[in-house]
Amino acid sequence: MSNDVKENKQLLVEKDKENIWHHITPYSQNHTPLIADEGKGSWITDHNGNKFLDGMSGLWCVNVGYGREELANAAYEQLKKLAYFPMTQSHVPAIQLGEKLNEYLNNEYVFFYSNSGSDANEVAFKLIRQYHEQKGSPSKYKFISRYRAYHGSSMGALSATGQALRKYKYEPLSSGFLHVAPPDNYRRPKGQSVEEYNIRCAEELEQKIIWEQKETIAGVIMEPLITGGGILIPHKSYVQKVAEICKKHEVLLIIDEVICGFGRTGKMFGFMHYDIKPDIITMAKGLTSAYLPLSVTAVRKEIYEAFKSSNENSHFRHINTFGGNPAACALAIKNIEIIEQENLVARSALLGDRLYEELKELENHPYVGDIRHKGFLMGIELVENKDTKEPASAERIGKIIKECKDLGLIVGKNGDTVAGFNNILTLSPPLSSTDEDLQFIVDVLKKVFQENQ
Ligand code: PMP
Repeated sequence: MSNDVKENKQLLVEKDKENIWHHITPYSQNHTPLIADEGKGSWITDHNGNKFLDGMSGLWCVNVGYGREELANAAYEQLKKLAYFPMTQSHVPAIQLGEKLNEYLNNEYVFFYSNSGSDANEVAFKLIRQYHEQKGSPSKYKFISRYRAYHGSSMGALSATGQALRKYKYEPLSSGFLHVAPPDNYRRPKGQSVEEYNIRCAEELEQKIIWEQKETIAGVIMEPLITGGGILIPHKSYVQKVAEICKKHEVLLIIDEVICGFGRTGKMFGFMHYDIKPDIITMAKGLTSAYLPLSVTAVRKEIYEAFKSSNENSHFRHINTFGGNPAACALAIKNIEIIEQENLVARSALLGDRLYEELKELENHPYVGDIRHKGFLMGIELVENKDTKEPASAERIGKIIKECKDLGLIVGKNGDTVAGFNNILTLSPPLSSTDEDLQFIVDVLKKVFQENQ
């Protein structure tokens, strides 16, 4: 390598420090970012030529893996043909994508396009409030979500988020957002079966609706399983009971599929594990495998009907410039075709099961409290003491993550710092990972845990 190039590489680091404000990164830790330069399959190469298996698919989003020329071409061809047109009107890729999504949803939904997961959830909140107002129940304005859940960074989506540390410096947020505890099966009260405990958690949600007065409750938002809050996988009975409760109290159910959608949990959408029919489904990340920004708020057609009156004020007064960009829609269609052609939904289920089979012996490790997964999405909860379940210290977790990275594997850390449970290692690798990739993940994790007895 010539000195010139070496110098430029150093310069890149300095220029980054000079010009870039990194997302959610504490500067006190003298953070040196990984400067990614190339991606192929499950692997990224940094600007120094070091390779890493991206065990988090970026931010749980590069479902079909990096470096797909078909996706680049789909966007390129569309950009040449028609780069932009607003969604007050329409264009061919938007229509085709809607049709494609409805293949998975029995033609029961219409699709409102935006740019990010946060946007998609904002749309859901706004249109639900308007829906109730137009159906003659204007007092229904409150939303219930769960502690530990993450639903986005904009004011409404952050209000729905149940992680205090992400929120308290930005108060006051939107009013009318309430929270209940999610089922955390590993930490459930002694003597309760998983099913009993999950039903109790759902009953607590119903109590909240009743105590707050059901005439004031507009909607419930939840992920099929809590991802960023630490991979909390509910029993089927919980999700089904919440769906029943919502119906009973005329509360609309938003299922946030921003992470769980597009095969991540071993089904096309996470809610499909539970035989429920959401009123609204929000999607982003895996929709385009994050190659371009695009998100969707899928709305049941009966709800859409309430916006169709000839009354001048009954339409949904929400617009954004970039939502439904034609290139992003064309790319999303190609992305879903790849998921179909390569059977990535089934592959996700298979890889997740194999990963668990390989790693379950780690449950005997002194610091591993619990390993849980659904599809190719896994949480390894680290504790200091298996009897008391005291969460592992930040130092212990940090050391494990660093050692994985030193061996070329990127893993995540999730949970909720205020609740004291920021102790869950997370894995969410591309669904296109090869058998060799899987073996690499297993080998690195086993080695690192072996060395951290
Ligand atoms: N919902 C969930 C479940 C998420 O995990 C995220 C982002 N991690 C969002 C919404 C917000 O998505 P975005 O960052 O695209 O706004």
